[in-house]
Amino acid sequence: MKQFKTQSKRILDLMINSIYTHKEIFLRELISNCSDALDKLCYKSLTDGSGLDRSSLEIKIAVNNAARTLTISDNGIGMTQEELDKNLGTIAQSGSFEFKNSNEKKEDLDIIGQFGVGFYSAFMVAQKVVVVSKAYGADTANMWVSDGVNGYEIKPAEKATNGTEVVLFLKNNTEDEDYDKFLNEYQIKTLIKKYSDYIRFPIKMLCTKYLPSEEGEETKTEQVEETLNSMVPIWKKNKNEITDENYNTFYRDTFYDTEEPVARIHTSVEGAVDYKALLFIPSKAPYNYYSKTYEKGLKLYTNGVLITERSEELLPDYFSFVRGVVDSELRLNISRETIQNNRQLSLIEKNIEKKIKNELENLLKNDREKYQKFFKEFGMNLKYGVYSDWGQNKEILQDLLIFDTVKEDSMVSLKEYVDKMPADQKYIYYANGLNKDRIKALPQSEKVVEQGYDIICCTENVDEFALKAIGKYSDKEFKSISEQDNGIENKDEETVQEDTKEITDFIKEALGDKVVAVIASKRLKTHFVCLTSKGELSIEMEKVLNALPNADNIKAEKVLEINVDHPAFEKVKNAYANDKDKLKQMALVMFASAGLIEGLLPDNPTELSDAIFSLIE
Ligand code: ADP
Repeated sequence: MKQFKTQSKRILDLMINSIYTHKEIFLRELISNCSDALDKLCYKSLTDGSGLDRSSLEIKIAVNNAARTLTISDNGIGMTQEELDKNLGTIAQSGSFEFKNSNEKKEDLDIIGQFGVGFYSAFMVAQKVVVVSKAYGADTANMWVSDGVNGYEIKPAEKATNGTEVVLFLKNNTEDEDYDKFLNEYQIKTLIKKYSDYIRFPIKMLCTKYLPSEEGEETKTEQVEETLNSMVPIWKKNKNEITDENYNTFYRDTFYDTEEPVARIHTSVEGAVDYKALLFIPSKAPYNYYSKTYEKGLKLYTNGVLITERSEELLPDYFSFVRGVVDSELRLNISRETIQNNRQLSLIEKNIEKKIKNELENLLKNDREKYQKFFKEFGMNLKYGVYSDWGQNKEILQDLLIFDTVKEDSMVSLKEYVDKMPADQKYIYYANGLNKDRIKALPQSEKVVEQGYDIICCTENVDEFALKAIGKYSDKEFKSISEQDNGIENKDEETVQEDTKEITDFIKEALGDKVVAVIASKRLKTHFVCLTSKGELSIEMEKVLNALPNADNIKAEKVLEINVDHPAFEKVKNAYANDKDKLKQMALVMFASAGLIEGLLPDNPTELSDAIFSLIE
């Protein structure tokens, strides 16, 4: 018995147990090896001029239920005795790599496996592996046998044709793992569809076919050889060969969505990096989209083999909703699950990001209804994208945002808002509120709208943060209508009368540090009171930040504004002259009701309730 030529058994153990996350990928690895062996044979026949019928090349899968074996074979280049010893006897010895380096026309050869560990994944599911191989052009065949840990043996064997046959003697079932499933026809078909559908050689297997039978008759079956992979992936086909239905079926089957996507991108890029991509923008967010369990990523193929189910590196977070496939000839790292050359990946990512952005912009321009549908589902994610990473992606994303506004019936982009601004409007106005109707009813909005200015409705927590991150759009700053200085000059501004100031000062005194000031309002028209804020932190931000875990009870600097032309102010004046205690109670009610308009609950509802009833006559 020969020992593996590697530093220790522990390494083998490590390889088997930690490089791959799913046991089922052994099948992909072994099939990829077959595909490589077939490629090598094609290549060899090209270079030695021995005409080879490419259509005879194939990969076969065979199941023996009684013996609990699964056999994966090819009629490719095969291995000599020395090659068996070297390639399968040394962990991390890659025959493919040597083959590639020893050939001059290196770049003509696509070979997936270059790292010499894929084969050992067989030991994740097999207690014993037998490899029978006959090298192309050789007279004799050899057999390699191993139980994975204790070493391997090589001896002469019988084999009629060139190629390699890998027989896996499956492990016994355990409580945690059912190895019998790898004998199941349906399972095998599913795995091949999942991982190896686009291998360019046919993968064939004898499958059970049910024959038509009369009622009452026993069901009859026969074994028929089927090709399990489709070989040409949809993204490699010409666009004009593919119907919408083809695309949609592929989308539904691959990404398990019941609805059609709102948009798709099918692209083939050549240049700094070559790749093909087929991407979809779903019309509905998956139920877990806004939770931690959602995983972003695109399927990554290289040379017809699925490398990663979700390659995160290919999608920026703000486009995490995109589903799709990227196919590129990348250099691979130790396991096919990790990619060595991240530079290539990040080039692809940059490129894809641009395409997604363009597609969304087109949709925004050409099909507003669809875009609105999309935005309802994923707009929040775009807004987070604007705000996160210190706003560094705002340029990419700001033109993809749309908002309800007080004046318009349908949602508008920032550009559309700015284009409609009257000449004298200095700021882009926005307001926070539960919905458009609530915002319309805000006391603060009346005068802004009267000026002919529209107001962007910020109805989601992230909205104001996103606008602040953008800072300025088209040279116009954003301004909350609830900011103390709302930038609207009052033409009929009159100085506040001295006695009014006395009253507002008294109310400020009564409210203590609940507010930083109480003033006679210039913005109120029909309503009596409202709250505005001074400084960077708005009342909305106070609410959002305080709702976070470990919040520090952050407070916005609030200003209580009172409409001194309102009939209710007469009562205030009266109380100030005759019953200051009563005015203190009124102050509480004024502050609390202005807070309610902003969606703030009173700090002390009992005190408020008492105040209200003390005022009822
Ligand atoms: P990799 O495929 O990453 O090089 P593997 O551990 O999967 O590593 O395989 C080691 C080597 O064994 C391969 O490089 C190849 O030379 C050889 N080999 C494996 N399977 C086959 C096969 N079916 N036919 C011919 N050679 C094979």
